[in-house]
Amino acid sequence: MIAAAAALVALPIAAAAPWMQPADSPAAALFKRQNGPPNPASPDFATHYPPQGQPPNGTWIPQPWLDKLKSITLPPNNPVATLTGCCTVQYPNIAQGGMSPDICSFTAGCHTPTDFFDAPNNTFVLTFDDGPGDASQTLYTFLKGNNISNRATHFMIGGNIVGAPSVAQEAFNGGGHIAVHTWSHHYTTSLSNEQVLGELGWTMQAIADLTGGRIPAYWRPPYGDVDNRVRTIAKAVFGLETVLWNRDTNDWKIGSDPAYTIESVKGILDGWLNGPRSPGILALEHEITSATVEAFMAEYPKFAAQNWQVSAVADAYGLDWYQNAVGNTGDLFATLSVGGQVNTNLAVTARPTSTSASASPSADAAAGSSTPSGVSSAETSAKTGNAQNNKQNAASSVVVPGFGALLAAAGALLAFAF
Ligand SMILES: [Zn+2]
Repeated sequence: MIAAAAALVALPIAAAAPWMQPADSPAAALFKRQNGPPNPASPDFATHYPPQGQPPNGTWIPQPWLDKLKSITLPPNNPVATLTGCCTVQYPNIAQGGMSPDICSFTAGCHTPTDFFDAPNNTFVLTFDDGPGDASQTLYTFLKGNNISNRATHFMIGGNIVGAPSVAQEAFNGGGHIAVHTWSHHYTTSLSNEQVLGELGWTMQAIADLTGGRIPAYWRPPYGDVDNRVRTIAKAVFGLETVLWNRDTNDWKIGSDPAYTIESVKGILDGWLNGPRSPGILALEHEITSATVEAFMAEYPKFAAQNWQVSAVADAYGLDWYQNAVGNTGDLFATLSVGGQVNTNLAVTARPTSTSASASPSADAAAGSSTPSGVSSAETSAKTGNAQNNKQNAASSVVVPGFGALLAAAGALLAFAF
């Protein structure tokens, strides 16, 4: 009997690619099985997903997501921010605007203890946003050549994934940690609740479809634009942890701002690598252009030489990579709890050098662009201990699979896998 059970348990280990989420999992209620995962090599692959480049809306929002949204409690004060022009978000009817504790907009300079902001001491958390794109394969080849594919988190744009599914799969198959960067890279605080559902949910669906059913556990808001309303939807509906950054390379400004070049970004990285190690560095970098990738690749040898612990987001905090899997290989958990209520009534932390609500439309760095050379001492002291808070917070949302869970998974797979 035990031998038979072991054989059953081995089934999901052997199959990495097919959609293998047990049919009775809470995740299966939220994420469609799509009659089997869409074939990324098929010309009709993209037709399984909403149009690229715009927030999914209307009939693209599945009823289970709407039902889940209705079941959660949003913060009492949850206005949709006003987006003016390309890139200014404001809360005109709220005293203190985005800095109100009720709102806590990172674009305005506020973050909460549940946000991933600082990193553990001596740790450089390596993240690349906005892929997959033209420069991605160069980066993936470099990471692989340096045996650090599994030490990077890729915050991918859902529309980009659908446009280049083979590149997304290359990141996954190479061992990279895949996370969510929304569907169409809009300022999320300016979107309706339903649009936020679409932005997060469809990116999660695309990642799940291409990774054998892995449900992402982390997301990073484009431009860092998040507030308590969006934080709550991300966590309570989809179980996503909000990942920000405490250092911005400003690599996204190369090509648009003459002050930023490959050399200047290398200088920024140099400053960090030679600078304080407490807290560690949770960096904002991009895989959008060959220049952003080149700056990182040129600097990387110094990371190891100076003894920084390079880590993907999840590993830096001792957490699982996905809500229903430890990593890119191995079993999916048979049981998990996607979402749950989130406490936004938390002490918030303000940046000491408040930035304007304006942001460049070209990348993520609205809130984090004030000081290219690094984080201030006030931020440092304010956020000490956050890694532990984050770890506890995130750990409560995942279920470590025991033997019973694996056995249940195997049984479900026998009945429902395709
Ligand atoms: Zn971005």
